[in-house]
Amino acid sequence: MLQISFTKEPLDSAGMDPGLCATCRHARVVKGANSRFWLCDQSRTDPRYPRYPRLPVLRCAGHEPAGVSSVPAEPPGRPG
Ligand code: SF4
Repeated sequence: MLQISFTKEPLDSAGMDPGLCATCRHARVVKGANSRFWLCDQSRTDPRYPRYPRLPVLRCAGHEPAGVSSVPAEPPGRPG
């Protein structure tokens, strides 16, 4: 029997599916001796985000694509 599976996000090198964290600028991978965790940097300033999100993260209001800055490219103009 032919089986086909799809994943929306790539698996990391440990075979873990982090979901949205895989493409989020706030995610960091923390490596232990025999384990690795995905850490959410948003948790430092916002208690709504867990330090170590339960994976895979399928929906997250804080997700921001890596490589895209939320800071405007140019400073706002001065009034006057
Ligand atoms: S903001 Fe959401 S998607 Fe981004 S690292 Fe935190 S939990 Fe993952």
